[in-house]
Amino acid sequence: MTIKSSEMQENRIKDIIAANPSITEITIQGWVRAFRSNRFIALNDGSTIKNLQCVVGFENFKETLLKKVTIGAAIKVTGSIVESQGKGQKVEIQVSKLEVLGEADPEEVKLTILSPKRHSLEKLREEAHLRVRTNTFSAIMRTRSKLAFAVHEYFQKNDFNYMHTPIITGSDAEGAGEMFKVSTLNPKDLPLNKEGKIDYKKDFFEKETNLTVSGQLEAETYAMALGKVYTFGPTFRAENSNTSRHLAEFWMIEPEVAFYDLDQNMDLAEDFIKYVVNYAIENCKDDLEFLEQRLLQEEKSKPQAERSEMSLRDKLAFIGKNNFKRVSYSEAIDILRNSKPNKKKKFKYLINEWGADLQSEHERFLVEKHFKCPVILFDYPANIKAFYMRLNDDGKTVRAMDVLFPGIGEIVGGSQREERYDVLRQKMTDLDIDEEELYWYLDLRKFGTAVHSGFGLGFERLVQFVTGMGNIRDVIPYPRTPGNASF
Ligand code: ATP
Ligand code: MN
Repeated sequence: MTIKSSEMQENRIKDIIAANPSITEITIQGWVRAFRSNRFIALNDGSTIKNLQCVVGFENFKETLLKKVTIGAAIKVTGSIVESQGKGQKVEIQVSKLEVLGEADPEEVKLTILSPKRHSLEKLREEAHLRVRTNTFSAIMRTRSKLAFAVHEYFQKNDFNYMHTPIITGSDAEGAGEMFKVSTLNPKDLPLNKEGKIDYKKDFFEKETNLTVSGQLEAETYAMALGKVYTFGPTFRAENSNTSRHLAEFWMIEPEVAFYDLDQNMDLAEDFIKYVVNYAIENCKDDLEFLEQRLLQEEKSKPQAERSEMSLRDKLAFIGKNNFKRVSYSEAIDILRNSKPNKKKKFKYLINEWGADLQSEHERFLVEKHFKCPVILFDYPANIKAFYMRLNDDGKTVRAMDVLFPGIGEIVGGSQREERYDVLRQKMTDLDIDEEELYWYLDLRKFGTAVHSGFGLGFERLVQFVTGMGNIRDVIPYPRTPGNASF
């Protein structure tokens, strides 16, 4: 990136701090992070975690102007890039012109999270419109943006088509979770039909509609024509679970591939995750270094046993380099049944028999204590998984897979899809799923059916893993959770 002279005000601090001293004057705009000794302005413009030191000779500026250079104020600075005398930076700006673009009253700033002291993550969440001005949140959100780019880059390089699935869905059989209703009916004056039920024929779409919980079923239709597709968009689940890993609105990535079986699906998931993690390692260096330090600080207050064994960047490098361990559900159940926490009744949900649904405590035991690496579990019992997953020859397991990550638990859920018309139809009948509603989904099995597979990866869980943030509310700008839709 070339540095632009003062007429063109497009310089970004990340380029300036890497530049060489130069007599040509440049202009920078940003927000004041600190103003020391009436001389040193720490300026941040969001382009990097690093601040640019701007040195003002206070003799040369009006006192009334300097008084307005306060934390949070937006300013415009012109000057030359000079070698820095202080430590911590190679260069600084010798300011010749200073303009305050937007003031920030110190008395009011003091009452917000912009005030320069440690604020809890909870407190920062309450001021989500300002938290991105902190080091922690700017680092997270820049990393989030890079990861989103890496997602597209991976799929585009591998010849996948980006597909936009509908956000308002007419099918309520996606089966991935509780849905939010979409309606323009007046709740105080609902039209009723002859049976006394709400008459959705009078609603906007003349039928019941919901916000999507997954684009998978629609993605399958496109995979069966374009071969390789992926979605990357918002999904909604009205699950009333207040956990550190669930949001009511989150972004999901769902590739779907024709002619892929479950093994190829697992290969894809593993290759994809490694790619985006390695991309972050390469492209978010400063931010990850900062987040690693933040995590170290945070963990200091925790008991030794709860601290991570590896630093954040070592953990990412480990993921990028090592193979994920592939284990069948049945093997996992044996391991869990014979595990210490199960025998000593330390698990909240004890594993007694084959068929039990795994809770996050079990997933984390497998990943963090037993295998000590990411784990892909496959071949789950049919009755704890969705209707569209391909039935194995044993008649009781399906070709499902979950990728489990340290600190996170499930990050990916996927499967080989049932491609056999009769088997799928029978399954739908057994589970009371409306065949007419999903005729189009069944059609795929009538016209040129083929083995195909796909998975869903929760983007926020990925961002959590990469940034080391413990709570999913801190990796999305404006989290939606039960009881909270502020901003
Ligand atoms: P979990 O068991 O963790 O609730 P799930 O089995 O309901 O997840 P899937 O339906 O398999 O999830 O969705 C695919 C992926 O989407 C999950 O592996 C996870 O990464 C992500 N995900 C699911 N629900 C949520 C949520 N409420 N908030 C954020 N991410 C989610
Ligand atoms: Mn799942």
